[in-house]
Amino acid sequence: MTVIYDRVALIGLGLIASSMFWAMKRGGLAGEVTGYARSAATRDTARRIGLCDRVCDTAAEAVAGADLVVLCVPVGAMGAVAAEIAPHLKPGATVSDVGSVKAAVIQAVGPHLPDNVHFIPAHPLAGTEHSGPESGFATLFDNRWCLLVPVEGTDADALDRLSRLWAGMGANVDTMEADHHDLVLAVTSHAPHLIAYTMVGVADDLRRVTDSEVIKYSAAGFRDFTRIAASDPTMWRDVFLTNKEATLEILGRFTEELFALQRAIRTGDGDHLHAYFTRTRAIRRGIIEAGQDTDAPDFGRVKAVR
Ligand code: NAP
Repeated sequence: MTVIYDRVALIGLGLIASSMFWAMKRGGLAGEVTGYARSAATRDTARRIGLCDRVCDTAAEAVAGADLVVLCVPVGAMGAVAAEIAPHLKPGATVSDVGSVKAAVIQAVGPHLPDNVHFIPAHPLAGTEHSGPESGFATLFDNRWCLLVPVEGTDADALDRLSRLWAGMGANVDTMEADHHDLVLAVTSHAPHLIAYTMVGVADDLRRVTDSEVIKYSAAGFRDFTRIAASDPTMWRDVFLTNKEATLEILGRFTEELFALQRAIRTGDGDHLHAYFTRTRAIRRGIIEAGQDTDAPDFGRVKAVR
């Protein structure tokens, strides 16, 4: 147990901030952790469940004297939060974030920060469809990636320190350039979420036609889409508004592939379908071999017993 930062401030107290708090406590990585959320209801919940050593009523109070400040709010709110805390930051402090999009956050936050702090954007590739202060847990980041996105001229010691914090919270740490991050995440996370939202929306329209049978006989494929499509609407609205170009690029390619598969179905081209599904099956094997998912049937789901 090595303390990496004496004082850490978490701004926004939802799934990611609360998981960071429990993971830092588990590893003994921070001296004192302060927290702030905009609503009194969230601050009250945090106090009730012991989330943060000290919950503050203003962001200014939370960041005062902090060695590390982590912005854990939706991407669209990052700029306003940065402007609010900027005058209260300790010289030499590191400011980071956990936003799912990086270029837009750098643009929104960077200009507000004074020259005497280190700004190191970050993105833990870990989450669930739940949100809020009570949804966090200490093991969320275990064996998941955390991508650090250092801007030009980033201090090597500050970067190393933040890397050690994420490693201490269980993550595998890597660095990536912002635009590349946004393209990779458009493929691996953002476009798949949009497709899931769309499929569940289509099923919802059809529900009226099929008289609720879509829900009653919900099978694995659709059920898995509904889990993804239950993700926080504010967070995902902001992801698509701020990672517009990369997401549209990937959706364009997706549409082309979809048309090709549609044609194969219409023309009865079984070879095309079989070759395609063989290629995609190999990708699933690669994810399991990389330790990023379980090989257990049905994603290791425990069957609900009634
Ligand atoms: P969350 O559970 O919904 O919590 C969001 C927090 O931000 C809440 O404390 C909320 O305050 C606050 N907030 C919301 N809108 C705000 C605004 N306009 N101004 C100031 N504060 C605001 O969210 P989360 O899942 O922890 O996500 C936080 C960040 O992590 C997002 O940028 C997201 O992109 C990123 N991220 C999420 C995941 C995931 O799977 N969930 C994974 C990786 C990264 P109140 O409670 O007071 O309303």
